[in-house]
Amino acid sequence: MFTAMHHQDVQELHFCHKEQLNAVIAIHNLRLGPALGGCRFLPYDSEQEAITDALRLAKGMSYKAALARVPQGGGKAVIMAPKEPFNRKALFKQFGQFIQSLSGRYITAMDSGTQVTDMDHIRSQTPYVSSSSEIGDPSPTTAQGVALGIATAVQFQFSHDLSNIRVAIQGLGHVGLALAEQLHAQGARLIVSDVDPQKAQLAKQKYQAKVVAPEDIYQQECDVFSPCGLGAILNEKNIDILKCKIIAGCANNQLASDDMGQLIHDKGILYAPDYVINSGGLIFASSRFRGLKTSEIAREVHKLKDTLDKIFVLSHTKNKACHEIANEMAEQILFGKMVQFQEAV
Ligand code: NAD
Repeated sequence: MFTAMHHQDVQELHFCHKEQLNAVIAIHNLRLGPALGGCRFLPYDSEQEAITDALRLAKGMSYKAALARVPQGGGKAVIMAPKEPFNRKALFKQFGQFIQSLSGRYITAMDSGTQVTDMDHIRSQTPYVSSSSEIGDPSPTTAQGVALGIATAVQFQFSHDLSNIRVAIQGLGHVGLALAEQLHAQGARLIVSDVDPQKAQLAKQKYQAKVVAPEDIYQQECDVFSPCGLGAILNEKNIDILKCKIIAGCANNQLASDDMGQLIHDKGILYAPDYVINSGGLIFASSRFRGLKTSEIAREVHKLKDTLDKIFVLSHTKNKACHEIANEMAEQILFGKMVQFQEAV
């Protein structure tokens, strides 16, 4: 266990087993503030799989917070969905008590498998929650950041605004559809795919998008490929058939492995690191938790433009893959001597 923690630089692992609740909270780093990260509620095959997920995801949240300049550490919670029938309300209330026992070291949020009502149940037991029906959905803010990130990448790569730029969006969920709306409003031409044909048809009707089958999205002639569905889709096979000059989307953990970042760089494709371009959701959650106003949140999200610009310039001048530059910048903030965001970002 300690070796696995060491491997991901995770400082703390907390476990709770109470009646049907089997939960783990991983805290990666508290240097910048209390850890903030979503809670996954999934049917894991083994305890080890659940712990590995928490460790890996907590690290990602630290890096995201560092480059988003939010005063939060990285953390993630995982609840193993019970295999037997269970009382969902009671389970999430117990999870709320578990969070409360950590006295604010970890703040939770929605993630795969959780619903806003689950967050409301947690909130009945602890104030350390950054999603609830009262707080609202982070997805529109994430989409706003991704649209800004795509515009930044297009400006860097083509010295052009979004008008007539062809963007292929994979996945039209909470973020993908809102992104389609923003890009369409700025004159981009859209190609879309979703495993749910109704969502694709909606984008066709509302934003004149060209609809393609999910398996055909990679080989589309386009300027930007925007992964907004699943993670780990940037593998050797898919990268090989991409015809774009930019990859920029909201999905978490897009690179199937770190080597894929280098492959993308070698192909001359500009890659907007996922945890930088999709940080709008974290900025929303952190800002709402700290009581910031909507106008202040928009200002915070806008800063991701400067961070991406810096990554693109350094990648170009050092001939180094964008994901490596982003990791180095985050590590300088998390583990280096400086804590001042301005100096590193
Ligand atoms: P979502 O579940 O609402 O949407 C995902 C969409 O992708 C769905 O419409 C689904 O049908 C589609 N999809 C799944 N597999 C697909 C495939 N093979 N081809 C095409 N479409 C496919 O999720 P979301 O909230 O929009 O988030 C999307 C991604 O962005 C996730 O990876 C999420 O972790 C990440 N993310 C979301 C936020 C946020 O604020 N919601 C913030 C940061 C990162």
